[in-house]
Amino acid sequence: RRIAEADSVVVIGLGRFGASLAEELMASGTEVLGIDVDEETVQSFNSVLTQVVRADSTKEEALRQLAVDQFDRVVVAIGDDVQASILTASVLLQLKVPVIWAKAVNEQHGRILEQLGVHHVIFPEKEMGRRVAHLVRGAAMDYLEVEKGYALAKIAPPELIRGTPLGQTSIRKTYGITVTAFKTLQEQWRNADNQTVVNEGDTILIVGPTKQVEAFAQLR
Ligand code: ADP
Repeated sequence: RRIAEADSVVVIGLGRFGASLAEELMASGTEVLGIDVDEETVQSFNSVLTQVVRADSTKEEALRQLAVDQFDRVVVAIGDDVQASILTASVLLQLKVPVIWAKAVNEQHGRILEQLGVHHVIFPEKEMGRRVAHLVRGAAMDYLEVEKGYALAKIAPPELIRGTPLGQTSIRKTYGITVTAFKTLQEQWRNADNQTVVNEGDTILIVGPTKQVEAFAQLR
């Protein structure tokens, strides 16, 4: 129960995905118990995570000994070994871990994890591919589909909204999107309001239905 009481997460599988997830959690102040079956991997994370242990996560007894059942959140970051991923998820459900996240490498894998009852199934490669498509197209500097059908994009303000207070541009009515924040070259990000005036060289953050966000991002 050592670290299980604090704001903490168990990350099982410290490959590329699990490792960067675990490091990001640590950087934002969350305690991480990392578990991997590979001794060398475990060694390399020794001073990086709160605690790192070598164990085979498909074994219920091993996870019990590590008190994994005392944690509120566990991420299964095993990808390539689909069988190990599924068995691990099944053990975690058996241990009644309240919130389980698991990475899926393809649709089939994802479907099985969902059928088992895993609470959050993520498809990092598929999602990243879709996201990068928007960057490659050059329309947005950053793009995130918050959920199916609703997106957020970082873009250069098109001419039609430059130089006029946002409240007078009727972009909500005409384009169905909202400008939520803006940034000039010199300044930090600030929340936008009706009085905000953006100019060439600024960057804005827009949110709205995916289709509208995509269309607005194409404007020059
Ligand atoms: P990525 O694509 O993110 O690099 P991988 O699937 O290649 O992910 O890596 C998954 C990690 O999970 C590896 O470090 C591997 O040693 C670990 N792993 C695989 N099977 C188990 C298991 N049964 N128990 C614990 N860790 C495992």
